[in-house]
Amino acid sequence: MASYDRNFTDELRARLSIVDVVGRRVALTKKGQNYWGCCPFHNEKTASFSVNEEKGFYHCFGCGEHGDIISFTMKSNNVDFRGAITDLAAQAGLKMPDYKPKSDAQIAREKSYVDITAAAADIYQKKLFEECGAHALSYIRGRGFSDEMIKKYRIGYAPKNSFIAASFSNVRQETLISTGLCRRGDYGMYDFFRDKLMFPIFNANGQIVAFSGRSLDGSEPKYINTTDTDMFHKRRTVFGLNFARDAIHRANRSIVVEGQIDAIKMQTGGFPETVAPLGTALTEDHIALLAKSNRNITFCFDGDGAGQKAAARACSIVLPFIRDNSDVRFAFVTGGKDPDEVLKTSGTAAMRKIIDGAMGLTDFLWEIVNKNYVTSTPGGRAQAEKFLATELAKIADPALRREYESEYNKRKFNTWRKWKKSDNTGAGIALPQVDEITKNTLVYITNAFPELAERYVEFLATLNISFDAAAPDMHMTQTAAEKFIVSLKLQKYLERLSAEKKAATAALLSGDASARDTLLDLDAKIQAALEKQEILIAV
Ligand SMILES: [Zn+2]
Repeated sequence: MASYDRNFTDELRARLSIVDVVGRRVALTKKGQNYWGCCPFHNEKTASFSVNEEKGFYHCFGCGEHGDIISFTMKSNNVDFRGAITDLAAQAGLKMPDYKPKSDAQIAREKSYVDITAAAADIYQKKLFEECGAHALSYIRGRGFSDEMIKKYRIGYAPKNSFIAASFSNVRQETLISTGLCRRGDYGMYDFFRDKLMFPIFNANGQIVAFSGRSLDGSEPKYINTTDTDMFHKRRTVFGLNFARDAIHRANRSIVVEGQIDAIKMQTGGFPETVAPLGTALTEDHIALLAKSNRNITFCFDGDGAGQKAAARACSIVLPFIRDNSDVRFAFVTGGKDPDEVLKTSGTAAMRKIIDGAMGLTDFLWEIVNKNYVTSTPGGRAQAEKFLATELAKIADPALRREYESEYNKRKFNTWRKWKKSDNTGAGIALPQVDEITKNTLVYITNAFPELAERYVEFLATLNISFDAAAPDMHMTQTAAEKFIVSLKLQKYLERLSAEKKAATAALLSGDASARDTLLDLDAKIQAALEKQEILIAV
């Protein structure tokens, strides 16, 4: 173990959920805080193998086996440590690092890194309250930040000149550059952040590892972040998580907002479980990080086009992480506002109403499908079907995926297919009539067995029934339900043939000799249909 980069194994543990890793081998069910299954290391019929997702370990109460994702992979794949991390790296989509032990020099470097960033945060905060930072202070106070909040989040001001480079002139230039705070130019060292409102970014251990600087003169980009360093990876850092972790546990969910000011205002305004991605784009890594503490996530975005787009992206990214007990929701702040403004102008109760009114994942995904595709045309529906299939394929749990598919089959039938009903009315053929009991039975069947509704959609659509009505539970099996539809179809077919036969007979009697062939043809069809009906009844 010593010969491996600790950072890398930590990274694997951070990226992969032990429930996913173990779940590939063992069927797990959540009971209380833990997941349970039958131990893969000893023979048992009742589940005594427990997995704690948050702490990242498993324990068998039967045989005493315990460990983390690495020991689980070593034991269950019968591979050595290297084999296990190679396998896990592939699962996490990470490249194996070169072997290098963390040397004393490396440890010292990391220590000096966080010493420098902590000292820089102190300097920035001091500057915020000095004359040079007056415009930054007035801006942040204008956003409703109290001095208490400024202290807690260690907000500061990076002066216009290269103050950090000058302050740390006794530190080795390489060390200073490695923190991302300073760069080397033609005329010596200069500060990366100049004339910026500074938000420190903390790692899971509460150490400051980077900064996010907001422009104060209206220049774009609005935010610049420390570029990735040895200790900071933007894609894998969620702003505010260090402050929110306990609250997420208590609230049993996290709230994700778009920006860091929003996150701070939410945390201090009654929603301490709020976090934000760094920069605008939410990544798989952000969700992986959040899902490790809790799989109930409420995304709260602006109701404008960009916010809707961000939410659609979040929806797509979150699908691989959902479990049968996840509650993922989407809330929108409308009227061109953001959460910060809602809290300021309307208060916590108004914000709570928005969060509590969030749309569930199932409904939101359905809304995306229907917004983005023209489902009134066959081509549009085909595109929508493909999109939906791609999205649902991301759900890892097969049982959960089937439930989603079945739910959407029902929705597709109820909303997309209804158009066929009116398409058929103009054809001059009388629509088949069904009695009330048949109608109720069909409504029940299409709701209970959406796949049957899909299979017999062409026929069902000719019946002029509103399938989104409510129907009593009729306790049918799927086989019985299918038999009901097929025999009804056959019956309606026979009714049509006999109506045609009546018409042909009348034509023959009125002297139309060609009707004889039609009659013979119809008799053959009726005979065949009757035989089919007999078989169906016999089954
Ligand atoms: Zn065991």
